[in-house]
Amino acid sequence: MRAVKLVGTEAVEVQDAPAPRLESDTDAVVRITHTAICGADLLPYHGHTPGFELGTTLGHEFVGVVESAGDGVRSPAPGQRVVNTSMTSDGTCVHCRAGRTTQCASRALFGYSGVYPRLDGGQADLVRVPRADRCLWPVPDGVSNEDAVFVADILPTGMVAVEKCSLGLGELVTVLGCGPVGLMAVICASASGQRVIAVDGVPARRQLAESLGACAVDPNGAADAVSAATGGLGADAIVEASGSAAAMTSALGLVRPQGVVSVVGAHFEPDFPLNNATMFEKEITLTFAIGNPSRDRERLLRMIEDGVLRPSAVITDTLPLDDASAAYRAFDTREATKVVLTT
Ligand SMILES: [Zn+2]
Repeated sequence: MRAVKLVGTEAVEVQDAPAPRLESDTDAVVRITHTAICGADLLPYHGHTPGFELGTTLGHEFVGVVESAGDGVRSPAPGQRVVNTSMTSDGTCVHCRAGRTTQCASRALFGYSGVYPRLDGGQADLVRVPRADRCLWPVPDGVSNEDAVFVADILPTGMVAVEKCSLGLGELVTVLGCGPVGLMAVICASASGQRVIAVDGVPARRQLAESLGACAVDPNGAADAVSAATGGLGADAIVEASGSAAAMTSALGLVRPQGVVSVVGAHFEPDFPLNNATMFEKEITLTFAIGNPSRDRERLLRMIEDGVLRPSAVITDTLPLDDASAAYRAFDTREATKVVLTT
């Protein structure tokens, strides 16, 4: 089978790899039809993830059809169209029992071997999925593959980012970073009646954010736009979706007193100069989250089916799996905003 492998810094190859087989009776093997590239895939791509195993098949966002399943898998069944959860969970550890599945003690992220327990990803023709009845969910007939692939990771991330803002109807949220995750937050905030200002340096990404209901500005214009929209008070909440220290600093400056800064950008820098005096004096709430597809996939799929959310609107490029190397380059250089690979 074909598999997209990380073979070096900024180097991916489509290689011939052995087809995965069931290794446990709770496994399933899925034949992939659609698989997306995520910003988190660019971290190992740039060598920013110590311990990442070269030769790993990449990809944690995929949709396909169940090819085979172990005797211990009640649902889904072979032949069913499914979407994965980006991270696995066991359902039995202290965190899973308490509903904190994103913190599962045995969690693995597909395509992130070495950083998490070894698990090949779904940028391939086939993928083995452990604990299949937790990590796979049937895609309803009314939902396209292009929309469903967002439910694996970034749509739940955009949703939780907005929900953690605890916004009142009509309040203003400012989204910093209009990559795919930021755009998912724009979609979720717009769908729930919030005013949205989106900030990004790339014109094409601002245009996309505008088409999804936001007022979009570049980083230099953010302070003025927020001030104008709030009579100088500051934004009711900020979604930080860029993952940079600069965006964090900007977020803490743009939020109003007693506002919320909701961080879903993937941060790996250990140190950040948090101004405690400002945090205290303005009574700011700072919160971090990882998307939880296990918890939120059913209502997200229903909202897509009902036409409330259409995440596929952010797909700029659909390419064959064989073009994965060019796809990574286009995504990395921001020529492409969201790339979906098809088999
Ligand atoms: Zn667990």
